[in-house]
Amino acid sequence: MKGSKTRGRGESGQRRRRGRRGYKGGISREALDSLYKAVATRVYSELGLDYVGLGEGEFKDVLEPIVHDIASNLSRPTEESISKKILAQRNLFLKALATRLLEQPERLDSARLEFIIHHAPDAAGKAAQALYEAAKRLGREDLAEALRALWEQYGKPTAARCPRCGFKSITPDLSCTICGATINEEEFKRSVDLDRMLDEWASSAPPELVREAATASIVYYDDGFIKAPSEPRRPEAIQLTLGRGEKAILEKTLGLRGWRKGESHRSTFP
Ligand SMILES: [Zn+2]
Repeated sequence: MKGSKTRGRGESGQRRRRGRRGYKGGISREALDSLYKAVATRVYSELGLDYVGLGEGEFKDVLEPIVHDIASNLSRPTEESISKKILAQRNLFLKALATRLLEQPERLDSARLEFIIHHAPDAAGKAAQALYEAAKRLGREDLAEALRALWEQYGKPTAARCPRCGFKSITPDLSCTICGATINEEEFKRSVDLDRMLDEWASSAPPELVREAATASIVYYDDGFIKAPSEPRRPEAIQLTLGRGEKAILEKTLGLRGWRKGESHRSTFP
């Protein structure tokens, strides 16, 4: 880049070029290293990160590229100017750090898990499966509860809550994307109190739909609601086969509304 010197015009041009060259060659590797160390010491203590118990490598992985990036854009990078820039955007930095810790969920302890949930909630919601494992291992039901909410906000919630782990993560084949359980239909029905739901639904839904479900012996469970087969529903809705007792609930409620078995249409009802 020696030749470019002659092309410099005016002070600002010179300064800009000197700044840009700073990263590549203007600052020695040693100077950059000692700059990093000074910034790391200040940022670490200002952010009070002791409780997270970070390994030096984990902190460095995140901070060093940021320090280098800022240094390369300053004409005279100093510990103070770089630290100030980082601390002015502390939330971004903490989020980057939390996201880094997320890469090794098997190494999480309570403090780290809390740190991730607090500083990178969206990433935590997406990684709920691994983090739930950690919360369970650590006996932190309170953090598991926080993860359930983040999963619903940022993850891929399904139409039904798992009776084992409590996440909205039961798929139509009745397996759970969070805890990996496969549950049978009976357990699922009990967990949502299907008898009560059917009774309430049959009392208020259009009787044609209730009749349709009773005849087909099928309803869908869709995020807290019962749907007849012909009703619109989300693809994640769970198909449930109705047993004799469950159909009897529908028939009984229809009967109370003046709809007898086999009756297909009635223009007025009580
Ligand atoms: Zn589950």
